[in-house]
Amino acid sequence: MAKPTGFLEYERKNNPGVEPLERIKSFNEFHTPMSADERRQQAARCMDCGVPFCQNGQPIMGMVSGCPLNNLIPEWNELVYTGEFDAAAHRLLITNNFPEFTSRVCPALCEAACTCGLNGKPVSVKENENFIVENAFRTGVIKPNPPKVRTGKRVAVIGSGPSGLACAAQLNMRGHSVTVYEKDDRVGGLLMYGIPNMKLEKHVIDRRVELMKAEGVSFVTNANVGGNIDAGSIMDEYDAVVLACGAGNPRDINAPGRDANGIYFAVDFLTSTTKSLLDSNLEDNSYISAKDKNVVIIGGGDTGNDCVGTSIRHGCKSVVQLEMMPKLPDTRAENNSWPEWPRVCKTDYGQEEAITLFGSDPRRYQTTVKEFVKDDNGNLKGVVTVNVQFVKDENSGRNVMQTVEGSEQYIEAELVLIAAGFLGPKPYVVEAFGVETNARSNVATETGKYMTNVDKVFTAGDMHRGQSLVVWAIREGRDAAADVDEYLMGYTSLKD
Ligand SMILES: Cc1cc2nc3c(=O)[nH]c(=O)nc-3n(C[C@H](O)[C@H](O)[C@H](O)COP(=O)(O)OP(=O)(O)OC[C@H]3O[C@@H](n4cnc5c(N)ncnc54)[C@H](O)[C@@H]3O)c2cc1C
Ligand code: SF4
Repeated sequence: MAKPTGFLEYERKNNPGVEPLERIKSFNEFHTPMSADERRQQAARCMDCGVPFCQNGQPIMGMVSGCPLNNLIPEWNELVYTGEFDAAAHRLLITNNFPEFTSRVCPALCEAACTCGLNGKPVSVKENENFIVENAFRTGVIKPNPPKVRTGKRVAVIGSGPSGLACAAQLNMRGHSVTVYEKDDRVGGLLMYGIPNMKLEKHVIDRRVELMKAEGVSFVTNANVGGNIDAGSIMDEYDAVVLACGAGNPRDINAPGRDANGIYFAVDFLTSTTKSLLDSNLEDNSYISAKDKNVVIIGGGDTGNDCVGTSIRHGCKSVVQLEMMPKLPDTRAENNSWPEWPRVCKTDYGQEEAITLFGSDPRRYQTTVKEFVKDDNGNLKGVVTVNVQFVKDENSGRNVMQTVEGSEQYIEAELVLIAAGFLGPKPYVVEAFGVETNARSNVATETGKYMTNVDKVFTAGDMHRGQSLVVWAIREGRDAAADVDEYLMGYTSLKD
C-alpha cells in the first residue's frame, strides 16, 4: 500500500487547466502537469483496497466500470508514491501499449470504480498514468525494443486506429512481420482524424509510430484496401489479415431539407480542421469553417462536445447542441450506486467554453430536428426543432420516443454538424473480404473470438464491437493479436 493514511491526508487535485477564454485561442492541449512531488501525493491517496474494482473492467447493470485493460493500478500508484517511476512504467506497459493515448482521452472507467470515490473523490488514476508514461518517454525508459527473433510469418493489419496499432505492436513483439495499411495520409485513425488536437496533440501519435517503425512495423499510408489496393492481393501475400477499419459509417438525420448546403457529419468537420492544422496551421483554408456562423450540433455526446470546442476555436457566432435524451442528474441517483458507471451530467471542456463565452449552456435536452430550412440558393439558414418525450409502450413495455405537438422552435443556423453516432463499418471493405456481419452491421465473430467466417481473416476494434472507446480498441487489438498468434504458431504467449 502506498501510504496507509494518504487518502485521509491529501485532497484530490487535478492538473491545472488554462482558463476557457485563454485556451480557445489555440488548438493546443491545455492542462499543465503538476510537479513530481505533488503527483506522489496524489498516488499516495490509493488505498490498495482488497478488491480493486478500478483494474477490472466489467459490466455492472449494463455499463462497464473499471479498466478494460486491467491496468495494474494499485501497483503503479504505490511505485509512484515511493518514487520508483521506472518500475511504475514497466508495470503500466505490461497491460497497456499506449498509455500516452488513454491517459489523455480515456473517460477513466477506473476512477468510476475507485473505492476512494465511494465516500469522496476517486484517486486521479488517469493523470497518474499520464505522469508515468510521459516521465518514461522523457527519461528514455521507453525506447525501441525490436524482437530478437523473427518467425517468418507475415501479417497485414488494415486500419491504423488504436485497435490496429495495438494489434500490430503485439504481433511484432512476438516476431511476426507486420504491415499496417491506412487509407488516410496519416497514421492513427480517429486518434489522428477525429479526436481534436486540444485533447490529443498529434505529435504524441507520431512519437509512438516512429517507435513502432524502429521496432520493425511497416506502415503504408494512402492505401485504401478494397479501393486502390486489391483485397485479393493482400490475401495472397500474407499469412493472416486483421481488419481494424473502425465504424466509419455515420448515422444520418433524414429530415426534410437534408440536402441543404452547410450540413456535415461531425467527423468530416473535425478531420478537416486537424488536417488543415497539421498541413498549414489552418492557413490553407481547406477546412469546413464555423467562423461567424450560427452552429447547430445534433448529438449531445462527446463528439458533439468536440464540435462545440472546435466551432468556438474557429470563431463561431453561436452554438447550440441538441440532445434527445433528458438531462442526467448532477449526482448519482439512488439506483445508480458505486461502483456502477455514474450516470451523471458531465460538463465537458467545449460546453464549459461555450458557457464562459456565450453565458449559457449550449445543450438543449429532449430535442431533435424536425426540418432543415434553406434559402432560395439551397443554403442552410436554420433548423426547426421539436421536443421529444419517452413513454412506455403498453404492448412491449419499452420506452418509445414521441414528439411533443406544438413544441416546434426555429433556430438560425448556417452550419449543422451531425454527431449522431455510427452504424458499423463502411460496407465496401466488408464486401471486399467477404466477411459476415451481425445484426448491428459489425463484423461477426464467435463471442470472445476474433477470427471471422473467412479463414485467416480476423477483426478488432470498432469494426467488431461497434462505436466505442480508445481503451476498448486497445483491448480488442491485444486480444485479436493473441488469436492471430495462436492461429499462426499453434500456441500463444500473448494472452493477458
Ligand atoms: C470525434 C470523436 C471523438 C472521440 N473521442 C474519444 C475520446 O475522447 N476518448 C475515447 O476513448 N474514444 C473517443 N472516440 C472513440 C474512439 O476514437 C474509437 O472508439 C477508436 O478510435 C476506435 O479505434 P479503431 O482502431 O477500432 O478504429 P478507428 O480509430 O476508427 O481507425 C480505423 C482506421 O481504419 C482506416 N480504414 C478504414 N477502412 C480502411 C481501408 N479499407 N483500408 C485502409 N484503411 C482503412 C481508417 O481510415 C482509420 O484510420 C471518439 C470518436 C470520435 C468519432
Ligand atoms: S486506460 Fe482508462 S480506464 Fe484504464 S487506467 Fe487508464 S484511464 Fe483508467
